[in-house]
Amino acid sequence: MYIVAAVSTPSHPHPSEPHVGSVSSKLNWLRAGVLGANDGIVSTAGIVVGVAAATVARAPVLTAGSAGLVAGAVSMALGEYVSVSTQRDTEKALLRKERHELRDDPGAELDELAALYEAKGLSAATARTVAEELTDHNPLLAHAEVELRINPEELTNPWQAASSSALSFAIGALLPLVAILTPPAAWRIPITAAAVLAALVITGAVSAGVGGAPKGRAVLRNVVGGGLALSITYAIGHLVGTAIA
Ligand SMILES: [Zn+2]
Repeated sequence: MYIVAAVSTPSHPHPSEPHVGSVSSKLNWLRAGVLGANDGIVSTAGIVVGVAAATVARAPVLTAGSAGLVAGAVSMALGEYVSVSTQRDTEKALLRKERHELRDDPGAELDELAALYEAKGLSAATARTVAEELTDHNPLLAHAEVELRINPEELTNPWQAASSSALSFAIGALLPLVAILTPPAAWRIPITAAAVLAALVITGAVSAGVGGAPKGRAVLRNVVGGGLALSITYAIGHLVGTAIA
């Protein structure tokens, strides 16, 4: 894909826009990290505020908050590991099939590549030249990018995806945990709510900024959603705590 973009725009007229695969994949990582942190903030804040609404004691809040942090981080890592591994298996199978086709019938594969470029809007002659030159350079890469939309040199590593999402969740989760445990009992819930909502302004703005989306709306959605989560868990914690006591 990006070969075409690079050919048609030798000097980037908009340097701030990601044109090259590796730039946008770095931004995707940043966005995934911010969203992981966002998850950690909201879910752990919900747990600690819910427990703090039921009891003034600190130990249950610490216990529930730490368990929530670990459970959430493990769950994020597992989910990411399974989904990235499956995607990687699929991509490897597609690449293997493509490699066999290139070995068994290179002529048909060249026609196929030329047809794909023609379908993108190139003339038949130009499409054939592009297909021939890319095939001379690296046939598998040429087919992977245009036909499969995979970069065979940048397959996502499932362990890396799992550990970075667990880490970003845990970093996010630490914020409400510290905010609820540090202040005196009378202040801990308002301080936690304020810290969480302020953090959600930042994560909302950064994740929108990375994707080039308008920040205001993203921040509003994030803060309203987080505020709702806190209100609901506070109400449930209060009700259940009162019912038990
Ligand atoms: Zn092919």
